[in-house]
Amino acid sequence: MVMDHVTTLECTICGAEYDPEQVIYTCPEHEGVAGILEVKYDYDVIAENFDADLDGDIRSQWKYAAFLPVDDDAEPVTLNEGGTDLFDAPNLSEALGVETLVKDDGRNPTGCFKDRASSIAVTKAKHAGRDIITCASTGNAAASLSGYAARGGLDCRIFVPGDAPEGKLAQPLVYGADVLAVDGTYDEAYDLSVEVTEEYGWYNRNAAINPFQVEGKRTVGHELAEQSVVRGEVPDWVVFSMGDGCTIAGAWKGFREFYELGHVEDTPKMLGVQAEGASAIHDAFHKHDDTDDLADTIADSIAVGRPRNTLKACRALEESGGASLLVSDDEILEAEKLLGSTEGIYSEPAGATPVAGVETALAEGVIDSDETVVVTSTGFGLKDTASAKQATADAHRIPPHLEAVQELFGTSAE
Ligand SMILES: *Cc1c(COP(=O)(O)O)cnc(C)c1O
Ligand SMILES: [Zn+2]
Repeated sequence: MVMDHVTTLECTICGAEYDPEQVIYTCPEHEGVAGILEVKYDYDVIAENFDADLDGDIRSQWKYAAFLPVDDDAEPVTLNEGGTDLFDAPNLSEALGVETLVKDDGRNPTGCFKDRASSIAVTKAKHAGRDIITCASTGNAAASLSGYAARGGLDCRIFVPGDAPEGKLAQPLVYGADVLAVDGTYDEAYDLSVEVTEEYGWYNRNAAINPFQVEGKRTVGHELAEQSVVRGEVPDWVVFSMGDGCTIAGAWKGFREFYELGHVEDTPKMLGVQAEGASAIHDAFHKHDDTDDLADTIADSIAVGRPRNTLKACRALEESGGASLLVSDDEILEAEKLLGSTEGIYSEPAGATPVAGVETALAEGVIDSDETVVVTSTGFGLKDTASAKQATADAHRIPPHLEAVQELFGTSAE
């Protein structure tokens, strides 16, 4: 096995270093899974191996294989994740009052950007000869992992909170996973999955504790950097919703890498958005000590009470000169409707949360109206139609007669 470009796994708390060829999830010096590890690279090796054209033609995230922590001889398990469009959004820009672009990551193979990470996790597990892979999830990570496990021929066992949306429970079942719907919260499902990993030795893809799989999320940053090169402009802000905080941290790391390697001339500020009912990262970033571990929001993908990656997320916000803020569930639902009706992009609530964040950031003077903003839609709307219905008016229920239509729209002669 060779990963010449990976130098070490470094503890984000105490700085201890571990051998990347061993399967270590977290630094044993700290209680529980607190000691999150960070993958460190030799960028000379990466630069030598990365010779792709930054021409905006991105078939999948494996264009950036030189950056990914998999062995040279590992066969990627892929469904062409990544390579998502960065759309101009003139109608949305006008509605918001600021130039806005949409990175549409809801178009990934299972309908969510987590596919970027699942592809790495299953590739590594398969290459290491594992045949059972597991994770805990608010829903999307489970659906995503199940799809990639099926693709890679691995068994998948997943832990989700019992109240996850129906669509997100149906998806992993179709992909053939064993779905364990835990009678409890996401945080409880998470703890159970970690306990089970220790007991059975299954390969655990949990975003925060598995230091490798989160590295796939860097590719959204690589793509945004490449797409900035093609557009000739780096956005002032890139906006993500935050649950565990891995996504915004990964995206920042990816963008920063391209900047440090000289591929792009500037970096954006990262704006992290959480729901009022699940605000732990925001509270930590603003050093509020009155935080609780409640997770009460309609945006189930970011309903995380005890985020596992608060440290990495806060570093991304800090290093980029960014900010964090909170939005209400009503604002999230409004944003879902706004994004859909202005641009034809249908996001689940957590995917529309960045749009709500931009509105708040403008109102609070965090974002200026002459700046450029990228909102990342992280998940596709059809995963959760029940919450969408709360954002929209009902269908017009009519009898099958012309008169009924005329009653609504008037007669054609009018
Ligand atoms: C998981 C998820 C998030 C949050 O990502 P974290 O890495 O947990 O911060 C946001 N949106 C969607 C659609 C997700 O599935
Ligand atoms: Zn440590």
